[in-house]
Amino acid sequence: MKLLVRPNPGRLEIVERQKPTREAEDEVLIQIQTVGICGGDLTYFRGTGHTLGITESYVVCHEAVGVVLEGPQHLLGKNVVIDPLITCGFCESCVIGKPQLCGSRKDMGYGADGVAAEFVIVPESRTYLMSKDLALPTGVLVHGLAAVLHSLSKVLVDQIPKTAAVYGPGPAGLMFAIRLKELGIDVILVGRNSWRLELAQELGIRIARIGHDEVNDISAELVIETTGASDVLEEALNRVAPGGTLLLYAPGTFNVEATKVFRRELKIIGATGAIGTMQKAMDILALNPAPYERLLTHNFPISSGQAAFELATAEPATRGEFLKASLCLD
Ligand SMILES: [Zn+2]
Ligand SMILES: [Zn+2]
Repeated sequence: MKLLVRPNPGRLEIVERQKPTREAEDEVLIQIQTVGICGGDLTYFRGTGHTLGITESYVVCHEAVGVVLEGPQHLLGKNVVIDPLITCGFCESCVIGKPQLCGSRKDMGYGADGVAAEFVIVPESRTYLMSKDLALPTGVLVHGLAAVLHSLSKVLVDQIPKTAAVYGPGPAGLMFAIRLKELGIDVILVGRNSWRLELAQELGIRIARIGHDEVNDISAELVIETTGASDVLEEALNRVAPGGTLLLYAPGTFNVEATKVFRRELKIIGATGAIGTMQKAMDILALNPAPYERLLTHNFPISSGQAAFELATAEPATRGEFLKASLCLD
């Protein structure tokens, strides 16, 4: 079978490997149809900056939808989405329901072989039946939205904020903004890329442009930072209303002025993974797929994986109207 690996930073290669075979009753053999390219995959592809500390070569990508060829009877021939998180299942974190904190955690696509392959084997517990109300390629959005929902579950605990600001109009930032708007929260999306901000406006989301006065007026109970850029991180912290929360959603580094945090009683929260939210994400997408589907702007055959990753990591000026690419396996 064909698969797409990253032998070195910035370089992808199609290689041939033997089709995998099931070793346990609860394992599922999936023929992959569409794969999504996500921020974590791009970080690993670049291999520079915040590399997640991973240097080995793996099959890339972690978002996928495919059809079950072998496995439990009730799944045969059905389309499923894969949950890419691999954990031990036995440590304290796993047992208390926080597998994202498992010391043996591995993420498919960067830490373990990913899903950009003709066939993949995963345990049945890491498959989710694709909703019949969704177009097949939309399945690659399920994991990203599930990660957004998991993050929101950390901050929408005691009370729902009335105001939110999201920094970074990339796929994650847009998903946060779409979801917060669905929840009736007054959300503003902040960024530089004008085409992405225009798309947000088309979706009925208020926007503000970094460097313009309108940003200085923002004071939100919840601020979500999705870029990881240090100047944007510092700016985002300044926009949290007293008593409010800054949610960190991207790898990065910034200087925190402690005075700002304690005098205003701010909370800084991190969240990782898509824990217990895959099914909810599927249901939300099935209910109203239209705004989320706007995020999938490009589709490439897997043989053009290199071109797809290069486009996704190109400078905004040369990238054009790009948000997120998928790879098809046909
Ligand atoms: Zn992802
Ligand atoms: Zn564990």
